[in-house]
Amino acid sequence: MIADDLKRLAEEVSLCHRCTLRNTARGVVFGEGAPTSRIVFCGEGPGAEEDRLLRPFVGAAGQLLDKMLAAMGLDRNHNAYILNAVKCRPPGNRVPLPEELMQCRPHLDAQIALLRPAIIVLLGTTAIQTFLGPKARVTRIHGTWHRQQDLWLMPTYHPAALLRNPQWKIAAWSDLKQVIDKYREIVDPDHVAAHYPKPSTS
Ligand code: SF4
Repeated sequence: MIADDLKRLAEEVSLCHRCTLRNTARGVVFGEGAPTSRIVFCGEGPGAEEDRLLRPFVGAAGQLLDKMLAAMGLDRNHNAYILNAVKCRPPGNRVPLPEELMQCRPHLDAQIALLRPAIIVLLGTTAIQTFLGPKARVTRIHGTWHRQQDLWLMPTYHPAALLRNPQWKIAAWSDLKQVIDKYREIVDPDHVAAHYPKPSTS
């Protein structure tokens, strides 16, 4: 079962000391959500609150992400999975270094291989560069679909950036509406999103 395999992987990753981030972090923040979900949200790395509780997106940015998910008809407990590009908190919340991202990449790949999502929403430049290369910037490519094998990738803003720049929220919601459209197209045609109802066919 996927849940058991994810649990085994989480136990394995919890022992990782592959990069120096583990020296200053309290522990490894593996990720959480519905194991059979077809949609994954990928952020940058754990912050202080995430490091304290060893759970992803539980601080202020996490609360905003939960609101974004709710607007999309999604919920980390039922139909979405949340993870980060690096699993240990960078000191002072700095951006993870390329070598740290590279060291942690096998964990991310193993998670994705088990989850087998149809869609990954890339939250912010670090997540975007992890999947789309070092030249990709959120401000330039948010809202445009990228295809990698069976995956649909949608770059958009990180909720922490939206807290700092609320004027970007309209653009972010436009990106997320595209995600809902794609989710209805390839995962669940009857998906209900209270803030983005399906167009009436009558
Ligand atoms: S950030 Fe990733 S690679 Fe580095 S120690 Fe933590 S789990 Fe291992």
